[in-house]
Amino acid sequence: MKTCSMCGEEFELKPDKPGFANRCPDCSAPEATAPTTKEKMDADERKAASEANEARRQAMRNLLYRKDS
Ligand SMILES: [Zn+2]
Repeated sequence: MKTCSMCGEEFELKPDKPGFANRCPDCSAPEATAPTTKEKMDADERKAASEANEARRQAMRNLLYRKDS
């Protein structure tokens, strides 16, 4: 068991868990909480987040187009 560095909850660290090794799955989620207490978001994190958003937008757009036509 590990203790989340964000919320303090204990969680089970899975080897293939995406995100941070010291955060629970909830706090590893890109949009879990606003990064108010976060000192900095490193470039990789920011890049991953924006790529995820872009991918989501793209998927949404594809869905809409498919529905329209
Ligand atoms: Zn947490």
